[in-house]
Amino acid sequence: MCGIVGISSETNVAGEIYDSLLMLQHRGQDAAGMSVCDKSDKLNSRKSMGYVRDVFAQRHMEKLIGNYGIGHVRYPTAGGNGKEFAQPMYVNSPYGISIAHNGNLTNAKQLGNELFHAEMRHLQTDSDSEVLLNVFAHELAKQREIYPTAKNIFKAVRKTHIRCDGAYAILALINGYGIVAFRDVNGIRPLSIGVRKGKKRDEYIIASEDALFVTLGFEKIRDIDPGEAIFIDKDGNLFSEQCAQDTQKRPCIFEYVYFSRPDSKIDEISVYKARMRMGSKLAKQIKEINPNHDIDVVIPIPDSSTTAAHQLAVDLKVPYREGFVKNRYIGRTFIMPFQEERKKSVRRKLNILDLEFKNKNVLLVDDSIVRGTTSKKIIEMVREVGANKVYFASAAPAIKFQNLYGIDMPAMSELIASGRTNDEVATEINADWLIYQTLDDLIDTVKEGNPDIKEFETSIFTGKYITPLVENYLVELENSRRDELKIQREKSKFKG
Ligand code: AMP
Repeated sequence: MCGIVGISSETNVAGEIYDSLLMLQHRGQDAAGMSVCDKSDKLNSRKSMGYVRDVFAQRHMEKLIGNYGIGHVRYPTAGGNGKEFAQPMYVNSPYGISIAHNGNLTNAKQLGNELFHAEMRHLQTDSDSEVLLNVFAHELAKQREIYPTAKNIFKAVRKTHIRCDGAYAILALINGYGIVAFRDVNGIRPLSIGVRKGKKRDEYIIASEDALFVTLGFEKIRDIDPGEAIFIDKDGNLFSEQCAQDTQKRPCIFEYVYFSRPDSKIDEISVYKARMRMGSKLAKQIKEINPNHDIDVVIPIPDSSTTAAHQLAVDLKVPYREGFVKNRYIGRTFIMPFQEERKKSVRRKLNILDLEFKNKNVLLVDDSIVRGTTSKKIIEMVREVGANKVYFASAAPAIKFQNLYGIDMPAMSELIASGRTNDEVATEINADWLIYQTLDDLIDTVKEGNPDIKEFETSIFTGKYITPLVENYLVELENSRRDELKIQREKSKFKG
């Protein structure tokens, strides 16, 4: 998962891109970067591994001069996680193009071969973002215009849509020309645009999440349509065009469950409200299945489940308590590379308030269960401090399949619900009762915010993928994500 932002302004944008990246930090903590272009068309860039605050020091910011630019926070989903994968990525021909990508291409390998064997382009990494950058660059170069116009840019986006499969929300900076934004034909990953009045012209922001618009004084215009492209030239003139046929908005439903900030609206749906409705639906399910339940207290597993848990408690008329205090200064446990470290870090990350559990029947609420590491460990901790019965509710349905569209899910064989019934998962995590949201309920909770959306990307729950898949892609992805194979790869690296 990644976060992207682009700003076009009358004055220097680096400070505002920095602030935006801080607000998008939850979407990726592995690496951060930005590229800005100044009035003499010079590109100024900085990217490195780590949190935004670590990547940009004062001395870097002073050199990032330019009134339009793009930024990126990275959470590795494809390729490796070294410095060479940090974004924006750059290609010098034509014009000098930098790219910030959120999503994942499913035909990157095939495109990489075409680029190398037929289009004389050499790729430095196995990053799908570098592939997309080169496809776009190639399509723009093919038009052989010394000075590209909006028309040329839209034509290149059109060709890019035809060639690329998967999920991509893109911001590209073309040196000396402006910023281009586009979204894949299903609109899987979010992207929206906002405007602010400058002294002489309108200033624009385009970003993965709109929560940051208000903070920076922008007003949201709208979400970018699937297949649409926007070009803001260096003087702030905006052009837009639909660059694909057969588009349909199918946003990733997991953005609402887990990824996005609660203060964002994605495709017009408030993430906060959707999470409240997830809590209500869970409460309804509990009342239907077990009207005489004996739940004494509802306790969220912080942070992304707190909204749903609170509404669930209100609807059940059961007290809501905080039972865990989160140490905000350690990264998300999920990104710890291997299982043993993950288990240890749950305890380091969440401290337990024992009195809230002692002799009580507790309902723990989390947004989702992935590997089951967190839920298992937490139930163990809760039992240790004297809870009576421990029930567990997940605001998302059982996750059984790999994610191909930019969410870092483990291999299918490592997903606790894959190949297990709900009762088997309950036994595995040692819960007295496990309640999963049903998929229909989840879809209803999100759709209520924008009934015009007919379909969501829900493949981690169903195994049904909405984009074409090349042969063996799923098998290769499974192997690339399996912990045991990752360990072997790491070991062989050290052997040299
Ligand atoms: P697990 O311990 O693997 O079951 O992880 C479940 C926890 O990870 C939940 O509390 C979620 O909030 C969180 N989570 C879900 N999906 C992801 C993801 N793709 N990356 C990081 N954390 C996640």
